[in-house]
Amino acid sequence: MNKEIQKVVIYARVSSKEQEKEGFSIPAQLELLRNYASVHNMIILKEFEDVETAKCQGRTNFNEMLKFLKNSKECNTILVEKTDRLYRNLPDYVTVDALPLELHFVKEGCIVSPTSHSSEKFMHGIKVLMARQYVQNLSEEVKKGLTQKAKEGFVTGKQPYGYKKLDKKQCVIDEQTAPYVKRAFELYAEGNISLRALSNRLFEEGFIYKPNTPKAYKTQIEHILKNKFYYGVIDYMGEIYEGKHEPLITKDLFDRTQEAFRKDNKPKHMIAKNFLFAGMVKCSKCGCNISGEIKKGKYIYYSCTGGRGECEPQHIYISEAKLEKQLLQAISNISITKEHSDWILQALKDSFKDEKAYCEERLSSLQKQKQILRDRIDNIYLDKLDKKISEEFWQEKHNKWTQELLTIQNNITAYEKANINFIEQGANFLKICTDAEDLYKYGDNSEKKQLLNYVLQNLTIEGENIHYDYKKPFDIFAKGLNRNKKLPRLDSNQQPLG
Ligand SMILES: [Zn+2]
Repeated sequence: MNKEIQKVVIYARVSSKEQEKEGFSIPAQLELLRNYASVHNMIILKEFEDVETAKCQGRTNFNEMLKFLKNSKECNTILVEKTDRLYRNLPDYVTVDALPLELHFVKEGCIVSPTSHSSEKFMHGIKVLMARQYVQNLSEEVKKGLTQKAKEGFVTGKQPYGYKKLDKKQCVIDEQTAPYVKRAFELYAEGNISLRALSNRLFEEGFIYKPNTPKAYKTQIEHILKNKFYYGVIDYMGEIYEGKHEPLITKDLFDRTQEAFRKDNKPKHMIAKNFLFAGMVKCSKCGCNISGEIKKGKYIYYSCTGGRGECEPQHIYISEAKLEKQLLQAISNISITKEHSDWILQALKDSFKDEKAYCEERLSSLQKQKQILRDRIDNIYLDKLDKKISEEFWQEKHNKWTQELLTIQNNITAYEKANINFIEQGANFLKICTDAEDLYKYGDNSEKKQLLNYVLQNLTIEGENIHYDYKKPFDIFAKGLNRNKKLPRLDSNQQPLG
């Protein structure tokens, strides 16, 4: 009889951010896990909990638990509320996955063990992969933030030459460098002067670009002369927003400058950002941006701008075709078939059912509590009117319950908002993975750029090779998914635990 009783440990975790929110408390998790153990006739050998604080992000007891399980001969089972309680990140998953453990994700109704069907393991991996923090951390969020900043009229990155930052958002004219910019526009707008000649002319007139580089490079001057910021707007991803900063030149002078560029429209003066990889890839040797130029009238080549003086300008040359070939490979590493995507999405939706049911349960219980409090407040008011209780007593109770009512209402709002976007974000992410190759192959330069920025980071060129890292969660797709493997059947692991 004793042999049939399973010995387990339970694990609960709450992060510093979650501590204030209802429904994430350690006691709530422990209660759920203890009930589960009791219903399933399990013996809890030990309970482990981690409460993270802003100061201490370590997981002392998580590690203690793994140590305990490694040494234990009678127990190899963890009960935990949900996937994201056990793993904070991928390394956690890898650590746990390497041990012969049986994991019960109680609220998700999922058991994973060394003998699990491969589909269950795969599904579990996907859940980890899709864990909220990965999806939410996508650069898309950052981009939204930047767009918001631009819409408000603030510069989104480093302030342009000629300005200095007053605080995190606001830029003001820098009296030291601004005259250089103004004069550059005036001279170039007159026409008949090349960028190199312009740089020399400014130097002759006594203008210093930077102490280390008294004469600006052509690309640096061109960058200034094409920046709409100087006449008072913010140009972000092709959208124009009204700036909050003081313009340095008039729109008229800017337009005349652009007209001069059109007259002087040799390919080598093409706008830097029209080149696919310009501003996106850095030189691995000196960290400067690489810039593009056209050779023999049609071939695009990239080279280091050498702006920091460490590299000879243009010491490396690589053709766009060679770069594209390598990046297309990078993109195709994360592509999945439509079949895979549908399968994963369906599985996500199924696993979300438990979440949803839990949320609805919590909501209905909160609504009940809310009604009870309201009734109490109404009743005690009647008691006060009837002089059954003192004014003081009424005031005290009234304040207490109103405060409680407010807390409950906040929790209701939190639950209503929670998890709504989870599936949607997962679907977006999967769609990108499914369409990635096509998006790249058939996209125009700006679409390609967007996709590459979405998926990759830290692009550098070394000789003829491009180096890069995948952003999360694409990194897992890039190395993890065996795309040729036959899909396991979905229905085999959808049994509720009862
Ligand atoms: Zn370089």
